Amino acid sequence: MDELTDRPVLAIDLGGTQIRAALITSDLAVHVRRAVPTRDEEGVEAVVARICKVAAEARAAARETGLPTPVGVGISAPGPLDPWRGIVTAPPNLAGWRDVPLAMRVAQALELPTFLERDTNVAVLAEWRYGSARGARTAIYVTVSTGIGGGLIVDGRPVIGPDGTAGEIGHLVVELDGPRCGCGRIGHVEAIGSGTALARDGRALLDRGGSPRLAELAASGEAVDAALLARAADDGDAACADILAHAWMAIGAMCASLVNVLNPDVIVIGGSIAEHRPDLLDVVRLEIVRRAFATPASRVRVEPSRLKDDVSLIGTLPIVAERLADPAFWAGSHWPSMAATNPQGAPRP
Ligand SMILES: [Zn+2]
Repeated sequence: MDELTDRPVLAIDLGGTQIRAALITSDLAVHVRRAVPTRDEEGVEAVVARICKVAAEARAAARETGLPTPVGVGISAPGPLDPWRGIVTAPPNLAGWRDVPLAMRVAQALELPTFLERDTNVAVLAEWRYGSARGARTAIYVTVSTGIGGGLIVDGRPVIGPDGTAGEIGHLVVELDGPRCGCGRIGHVEAIGSGTALARDGRALLDRGGSPRLAELAASGEAVDAALLARAADDGDAACADILAHAWMAIGAMCASLVNVLNPDVIVIGGSIAEHRPDLLDVVRLEIVRRAFATPASRVRVEPSRLKDDVSLIGTLPIVAERLADPAFWAGSHWPSMAATNPQGAPRP
């Protein structure tokens, strides 16, 4: 463990359904976990206030427990966002959020330097430093849940891009005339393989009377979502199994393209759907062999996420450590009066 990451961080994970906060220590232990519903329908201000409150509660609990003081705050949030200025720009799954200076707001509330990064970039750092991609030179993190997202480490460096959007692999085109994606475009893998896409296809199947088993399950009042579709498939329903097989193939084809483009050592697949459907990884491995160049296909390992749900909390540890030392990230992330307590002791930009 290097000296920079040997200091605890207050982690915040802003998700579409939940806001989580915790203190992360250098042994990767997650302390004083707190969670509240996001409830974005109540508006941006209400959510920002909840984020500050839950983070303050976690910090107070850590103090009472005698845990070490955090050196900064790391926020994992849905993209797209501007990591340099700490601004959440326009996430499709947070209603009404546009150009919200979240890092600044949290820095002011907690009086700690605060850094913001896209959830999947936080995740790839966590798996690369401490998880299934440890030791890799080139690694890809793929999340398969409500949406499909990703983060990239190429030749030992995180790839962010000039606009912070690099690694948005859910919006790779896998079907030229495919369904419309949540982002508004056509043919993206997220529109075929995500939980949202599976739920849409399940409902369409039900509407046209294509699955007696799904109809039976839905009749009990359960929502027709990806989980229910998977249950019907597991019960032997062929139409539901076909939808799942097509979705997994699309994700596998996306991974095969990534193998050809980036020649990764490892692809780590996480997210709630991947966690519940280990058969997804088998299909991905098969599709890589079928569709990618033989040499990089034989090199790449396809692994489940080791840190699972905690990737977005634990990944804030290296984010905060590295950005405290990097003036490129100070602009929106430090409250000006924090100069006196900047743990680096470095001059302000
Ligand atoms: Zn898209």
